[in-house]
Amino acid sequence: MDRKGGQEGMRPRRRLCPGLHTLAPEPRKSLPCLLAALLCALLISGCSRRTAVCPYPGRHTRAHYRAHHSRVRAPKPSRVIVQRVAYFDAPRTIYHEVGPGDSMLRICRMYGVSSGSIRRKNHLGRKQSLQPGQMIIIPSVRTIRYVINLYRTRPWSYIIVHHTATEAGDATTIQRAHLQRGFWNGLGYDFVIDNGTMGRGDGVIEMSPRWLRQETGAHCKADSMNRRAIGIALVGNFDCERPSRYQLESLAYLIYILRHYYDIPSSNVMGHGQVPGARTDCPGRLFPINFLKQAARR
Ligand SMILES: [Zn+2]
Repeated sequence: MDRKGGQEGMRPRRRLCPGLHTLAPEPRKSLPCLLAALLCALLISGCSRRTAVCPYPGRHTRAHYRAHHSRVRAPKPSRVIVQRVAYFDAPRTIYHEVGPGDSMLRICRMYGVSSGSIRRKNHLGRKQSLQPGQMIIIPSVRTIRYVINLYRTRPWSYIIVHHTATEAGDATTIQRAHLQRGFWNGLGYDFVIDNGTMGRGDGVIEMSPRWLRQETGAHCKADSMNRRAIGIALVGNFDCERPSRYQLESLAYLIYILRHYYDIPSSNVMGHGQVPGARTDCPGRLFPINFLKQAARR
């Protein structure tokens, strides 16, 4: 993880046509000029509330983000992967802490329970939204599933794996920590794979709000990877311990899904420290890098 999260400052915009302003305006070309100006104005104001993805990724300032991105609506996923990972013989009651990337729809898909029964059990109104950190009861759970949204809005071409360098955590705690560190866009990774320390299951895959909005990452500034790479963080400090078996299984599954959907070459799946120009030990000295290579070839 980079200290500044890879959010680059505002650079002077490159002039597309240097000679344009030196020519005297020709009356016959006034209409095309007007149309060109209109097109430019539309492009410049492209970060409207209706635009899902900013046309100037990586040129964000805090003011830019507050003015546009905080109100940007999340794009619709082109595909949602729902994969069963656990089955219980008898129905169970589960306590679920709402993560930063959770919605009622996602929670219903995760546990195979209707929104009506969750709302009734938790005395939630029909239009009452869930808040990150809120603890809710999920009744009558028989299955637990991975839910992974996939989008066609950005051409992701790399997958970068990190560790959080903390013993405990989940998407909620990392989101809080990154906001405190000044990442105005919150959680810098696209996915977090839990290690079971915060009440979530070991190996649970969480999507970040950044992924749901398909925004530029804040996990690897080197080689412009924030714009090109999907960032996956495994909770744990792999300088001191190895990732759990369940975390590695989930990582291999996630890499398989993402690599095949975005047609990412296996050589473009790497640990943070393997990125040219990245001076870091991430994802930790004990992280099994050979496992990553094998997983990328599946
Ligand atoms: Zn890292």
